[in-house]
Amino acid sequence: MNKKSSWEKSTCAYCGVGCGIKSRFNNDGQLEIKGDEQHPTNKGKLCAKALTLSETLTTNNRMLTPQILNKPVSWNQALNETANQLQNIIDSYGPDAVAFYVSGQLLTEDYYVINKLAKGFVGTANIDTNSRLCMSSAVAGHQRAFGEDCVAGCYDDLEAAEVVILTGSNLAWCHPVLFQRLKQAQQQHNTKIVVIDPRHTASCEIADLHLSITPGSDVALFNGLLSYLHTNDYVDQHYIDAHTNNITAALTTATALDLQQVSQLTGINEQQLHTFYQLFATHSRTVTLYSQGVNQSVSGTDKVNAIINCHLATGRIGKVGASAFSITGQPNAMGGREVGGLATTLAAHLSFERHDHWQLLSDFWQTDKLVTKPGLKAVDMFDTIANGSIKAVWIIATNPAASLPNSNKINQALAQCPCVIVSDCVDNNDTLRHATIKLPAQGWSEKSGTVTNSERCISRQRRLVPTQGEAKPDWWIITQVAQRMGFERQFNYINEAQIFAEHVALTATNNHPTQSPRLLNLSGLRHLTANDYDHLLPQQWPINSDGISHQRLFSDGIFPTQDGRACFIATPYRPAITQASADYPLLLNTGRIRDQWHTMTRTGLVASLADHIQQPFISIHPTDANHYQVINNQLVTVTSHYGEAIFRVRITTDVKPQQVFIAIHWTQQTSSAGSVCALIGEQRDPISGQPQYKAAAVQLSPL
Ligand code: SF4
Repeated sequence: MNKKSSWEKSTCAYCGVGCGIKSRFNNDGQLEIKGDEQHPTNKGKLCAKALTLSETLTTNNRMLTPQILNKPVSWNQALNETANQLQNIIDSYGPDAVAFYVSGQLLTEDYYVINKLAKGFVGTANIDTNSRLCMSSAVAGHQRAFGEDCVAGCYDDLEAAEVVILTGSNLAWCHPVLFQRLKQAQQQHNTKIVVIDPRHTASCEIADLHLSITPGSDVALFNGLLSYLHTNDYVDQHYIDAHTNNITAALTTATALDLQQVSQLTGINEQQLHTFYQLFATHSRTVTLYSQGVNQSVSGTDKVNAIINCHLATGRIGKVGASAFSITGQPNAMGGREVGGLATTLAAHLSFERHDHWQLLSDFWQTDKLVTKPGLKAVDMFDTIANGSIKAVWIIATNPAASLPNSNKINQALAQCPCVIVSDCVDNNDTLRHATIKLPAQGWSEKSGTVTNSERCISRQRRLVPTQGEAKPDWWIITQVAQRMGFERQFNYINEAQIFAEHVALTATNNHPTQSPRLLNLSGLRHLTANDYDHLLPQQWPINSDGISHQRLFSDGIFPTQDGRACFIATPYRPAITQASADYPLLLNTGRIRDQWHTMTRTGLVASLADHIQQPFISIHPTDANHYQVINNQLVTVTSHYGEAIFRVRITTDVKPQQVFIAIHWTQQTSSAGSVCALIGEQRDPISGQPQYKAAAVQLSPL
């Protein structure tokens, strides 16, 4: 008779909530999964996606061997060929002729070494991550306001708050366990909850107030709030004077709109605006939680700063139950940001704009090739692949052919790129069709390392099952290629614990005595042994040299800027640049559904998850259904300036007239009808480079 194995702890594979799981093999040899009661994030709770994770651990669609031009080869051949092709292109055309496109699915250790290879040794900053698509506006907003990309609050704040504002976040479907925590807190403390969303989403179930905002008008709404707080004397003048700069400029733009104008722009009536503004003004413990509805916009960075301005004006940053709180989409979007996964940042929150930062990193890595300026952001990177200037791209753990905007163009760019290297755990997705070299990577439950969730909690992912086929850890694949490119000494790690230790050491090699210190500081972990790393408990950074983990940042009103003060940002309201037109009269919004994840390469393997919603759909209002003479479940072709795709009609009053909604998950690969990203344009925020997934003008015609 088989014997049950003991419970092993790890972290969920999916969203940025970062729930702790426990797993073991039962008597039948099946992997059982349940929530980790001791993990501070979820305290034992899990959502449906996590509870069915063991069903995704099949051999279906797994990449099992390295391949060159779809022919199986040995690891040695594949690694040599990868290194040779990259080096030949660098020798012929320079380092910026190669690019790396990575993912919030990577572990921090994987992210650290690919960023070190690109920026530190190849000498190109053309490394960007799919976090550009979901979080880069929040990053830019945090940097402008606080001086560093930091989330000030923690999940406990949602339970301590008197008022919680969900803006651009369908928390109920996108971060279900956090939503359950909020719902429970509401039942216990009568928390007032405001949902700001053009759609009536599942999160409205617990809303005291739903503001069905006109898409793209969030800056006007929060400028109106700042103006209201100022005019009615609700600001914390002592906090403003002691801890901030630049309020005059922010107020000048905020007061440029009166309440009536805000109402016209946002589509929210003055009575509702007054109710919302009063709720915010009169409750000191207020959390504003924001996500993709804020970030995925041509004004995403300004939206983030318009929100933070209101929190700075009332001194509600980093206090118990009072913060502006960005919630991330992916399991390790935060960890990637910490090690410089974005083209616009250096490792360990070091900045391109500070020479002392550049020198510190150059010395630490002992390199003379460290890049001096930011590289191409995701959309620009693929444009440069399309125009032929980038001749090799290494794509790791992501599916840009399906998930980047204007996906038809992305597919054309990859089809004509001479060298497309793809590391992935799956063997068949939209991007892999273009791969000239395929490198099989270990998947969740096979690999080991760390992730950081939305509240800065570093948590271990552990090996739970044997590796399938010849798959290897991403950090191993990257360092083997680096060694073959001549960087043996700098990439001779023997395990992920060594890489984590180097990351920790970099965060501790820090803090010029005359400059304000960076907050990303893990120096309390600098004596960690490999055994300690194996047993690392979840903990929030900063973890300073005293070893104490910090739940909140900026509680003392000191910020990591040159003068220690936070900065108000003037955020003038700008009209949305994508409007419905005579040719494309419907405004498309996009988002997730409850039980699927990204492009469904994992959740698509679980039959029970498909029970929630089975097929690609378009939500339309009954008046539009009547206008187009379509009925529920009818197939329609949806067309935009960029492409077309086919969806089934779902008639619902959850969307407003002339607005439609399509979920992001189905792609050309999973649904021959096509992908919503074929409809999305390349308009993006001018500061963050984050694409505008939340607004595209479309036309609809019955099939
Ligand atoms: Fe996993 Fe997110 Fe669900 Fe938690 S809420 S169990 S992290 S998918």
